[in-house]
Amino acid sequence: MRRITVFGATGSIGQNTLDLVRRAPDAYDVVALTGASNIAQLARDAIEFNADVAVTSDPARLADLRAALSGSGVEAAAGEGALIEAAARPADWVMSAIVGAAGLAPGIEALKHGTTLALANKESLVCAGPLLMAEAARHGATILPVDSEHSAVFQALIGEDMDAVERIIITASGGAFRDRPLDDLDHVTVAEASSHPNWDMGQRITIDSASMFNKAMELIETKEFFGVGPDKIEAIVHPESLIHAMVGFNDGAIMAHVGPHDMRHAIGFALHWPDRRHLPVDRLDLAQIGQLNFRAPDPVRYPALDIARTVMQAGGLTGAVFNASKEQALDDFIAGRCSFTDMARKVASCVDVMLSREGLQNATITLDSVQEADAMARALTTNDVASIK
Ligand code: NDP
Ligand code: MG
Repeated sequence: MRRITVFGATGSIGQNTLDLVRRAPDAYDVVALTGASNIAQLARDAIEFNADVAVTSDPARLADLRAALSGSGVEAAAGEGALIEAAARPADWVMSAIVGAAGLAPGIEALKHGTTLALANKESLVCAGPLLMAEAARHGATILPVDSEHSAVFQALIGEDMDAVERIIITASGGAFRDRPLDDLDHVTVAEASSHPNWDMGQRITIDSASMFNKAMELIETKEFFGVGPDKIEAIVHPESLIHAMVGFNDGAIMAHVGPHDMRHAIGFALHWPDRRHLPVDRLDLAQIGQLNFRAPDPVRYPALDIARTVMQAGGLTGAVFNASKEQALDDFIAGRCSFTDMARKVASCVDVMLSREGLQNATITLDSVQEADAMARALTTNDVASIK
């Protein structure tokens, strides 16, 4: 039996992961499941899978979790320390699917124990890519991408020589406002931004898809995970979202990964790797689909992509600043404190200000330095609205 732990079990990726585990109950021994606010779901799943421990990141919800688990034999725990403790419990496979920078510390801890980390939490790579890759190498741990684009690239690269790679092309649906007149974007609502044309995902990543901050994060994620230069990484709008990514080689060939809009594909690939096994996802009817379309991303509609280029060129702690600023700007948009288009203005301004300070690009990336840069960037972003308009 493979011992598995799921961080962010109550979320969209977490629930898709448990769906696959549920289909092969004899193959897995669930060590820990974690969540934050959805205590009912966390307790229900922890009992169903007979987990050793269920952890909520929110200490104020520990009593509720204890009550929901009472008599089940599943241990209840809460807080950041408990998440780290859960990551230290021996496991063969760990899903990192907390949303945001909060996913970084548990992921690093899991790597220190030499596990295989299935990484949905792209924020970890954006904030601290070199640290994550170094910890994996030091402890003989494996990181497998779960973001659909990066899983696609990973699959296209099997058996290939990285020296033959000329470019990696990440596709983008264009999000909720792909065809909205540009003038409307100042006034779009949170509800409108929370609906994705193709994928069913958590609210934050869905809004990040509308603004293309998600794609901006994915460009940085590509650089950090595959170790390729920014000049070899491209984004292209592909409204059908059926090609998840492409790899271009030095003989002119392009390998494209095509698949349905179902995260269980990328999750299942990471779960079964290095094998490829049957998955309960739809089979594409290509004749029915008929055509696939592509267009260059409009830099005016999607300013996040240019900010990502600045971040990739600068390196160091710039990614941690970018991610934190983006998270804060998103909080501000969701809470009605800024408009949709203000998000990119805030993040661009924060990255510029922080880059003008000494040391950001050459700083050593540690958990502490990332957290410090993160806190400064959040404060700057949320306080800065008036001055950047
Ligand atoms: P969701 O919002 O659906 O789920 C997030 C999970 O994290 C939930 O379990 C939530 O708990 C938990 N959580 C929230 N805040 C904290 C915190 N501060 N500390 C610890 N746990 C917390 O997100 P998704 O599943 O959509 O995304 C998860 C990650 O996967 C993100 O990094 C996202 O970018 C990435 N990803 C997601 C894809 C998707 O299809 N959804 C595709 C590719 C990548 P609770 O719900 O109990 O409050
Ligand atoms: Mg993705």
